[in-house]
Amino acid sequence: MRKLLIAGNWKMNGDKAEAVKLLAGIKAGVADSDDIEWVVFPPFVYLAETEKMLAGSNIAWGGQNLSADKNGAFTGETSASMLRDFASEYVLVGHSERRIMYAEDDRRVAAKFDAAITAGLKPILCVGETYEERKAGVTEQVVNCQLGAILALEGGADALRQAVIAYEPVWAIGTGLTATPEEAQAVHLALRQQVEKDDEEIAKSVRILYGGSVKASNAAELFAQPDIDGALVGGASLDVNEFLSIGQLCNSLS
Ligand code: PEP
Repeated sequence: MRKLLIAGNWKMNGDKAEAVKLLAGIKAGVADSDDIEWVVFPPFVYLAETEKMLAGSNIAWGGQNLSADKNGAFTGETSASMLRDFASEYVLVGHSERRIMYAEDDRRVAAKFDAAITAGLKPILCVGETYEERKAGVTEQVVNCQLGAILALEGGADALRQAVIAYEPVWAIGTGLTATPEEAQAVHLALRQQVEKDDEEIAKSVRILYGGSVKASNAAELFAQPDIDGALVGGASLDVNEFLSIGQLCNSLS
């Protein structure tokens, strides 16, 4: 049985006061819910505050990105061990905004994934196709290739014991568009079958989240799909009530 996971990616939004307010609201709202796992991804500079406020709660946290390198002359970068210093449990890897705006290719994403695993972080690997790729009918090839780069570098699926996959169609991120539950389920199944070729047990246990304009109004039908194990939420995670409602819907179906 896979434990459902609801993750909030705050991106580069808010200020310290808003971060504190969000953290306090989420902490108060999830206090007596043990059936799902909650994770928040605040901007790096609020991780210290996040650790202070969430330590001892049932909400985990992490970085939105990390460096593939351990240390050195990499101005502006943040290493896996630095994230661990603030008790981060998770880290986002390969978000489409990083892939597109910061030119992170599959090789770079795989190197970051490996740095996370090596440091004991749990990477949430984001994969997804562009609108043009969906139109061209190559969605499954694209996501299989993105996941394949990880499996190749790691020498198989074993590293996925410590990881989560998030299917996020690029055209659905921040656009208000969402894949239909059936479209999402088909891609989730294709990803799980890819893992299954290497390891059946890991294929059954690895969690695959859906991301792309998830809101309380569309979450239930997505969560009803057999291979959707929760959500990576962007915009709606900045609204405490909306974020909590998404989790509650997830919980009611678990
Ligand atoms: C995301 O950035 O991971 C995301 C899914 O964003 P949104 O929910 O705003 O589409």
